[in-house]
Amino acid sequence: LFVRATLGEGATVELEAGQANYLGNVMRLGAGADLLLFDGSSGEWLARIAEVGKKRMTLAVERRTREAESVPDVWLAFAPVKRTQTDWLIEKATELGVARLCPVITQRTIVERVKLERLQSIAIEAAEQCGRTRLPQIDEPLPLAKLLQQRDAARPLYFADEHGGEPAAAAFKSGPATILTGPEGGFTDDERVAIRAAEAAVPISLGPRILRAETAALAALAAYMALVGD
Ligand code: SAM
Repeated sequence: LFVRATLGEGATVELEAGQANYLGNVMRLGAGADLLLFDGSSGEWLARIAEVGKKRMTLAVERRTREAESVPDVWLAFAPVKRTQTDWLIEKATELGVARLCPVITQRTIVERVKLERLQSIAIEAAEQCGRTRLPQIDEPLPLAKLLQQRDAARPLYFADEHGGEPAAAAFKSGPATILTGPEGGFTDDERVAIRAAEAAVPISLGPRILRAETAALAALAAYMALVGD
């Protein structure tokens, strides 16, 4: 269970009403029940339900059960698409172990507004389900030009380009990486020229078919994790 609290031996945690209700009324857990908690940075902790109130619950933290795992230092820069597909992408990328999600606004991006709060809660639920104790960082949307300005030669920019590039499997190297995929309408030609000109940009191909934007982002991330991830 993700809690916005500082966890430590002997700490007590007051659950938010929604969580207290879910554990007490939906999961029907009562005093004495064990839970595993994480706060996103200090690993996983065993806690016990100490008190159950009307709309509140207090937990007593006992001991750390797992250190915070390190996730591969891979960022996914993606042009947001329609809301359900973006929600799906956040959930799947979190399950796969992405460290950071960077929404990128390109000339053909349909969705300009990205509700960060909503994406963060999707990432939290995915982390609870897959058992990661470190949450992915989710950035505010950034214009493509800004993303390219912030290049760091030590972090290759694997640019998924359906017009041609090295097969991803051959291009990926272990170490820090940013994977960049475009919007449903694709990158414009001048965007592709700008991306290819960026420091440490590596155009990659994900095969001969045109993948949907969210499919391409996930296919590239999954390939990276399988080849060089944790
Ligand atoms: N230009 C595409 C078309 O002709 O329909 C539209 C872009 S595609 C739907 C969305 C994004 O997925 C692209 O910008 C690219 O980043 C990525 N993509 C799709 N298929 C790919 C492939 N075979 N190889 C590499 N990237 C791909």
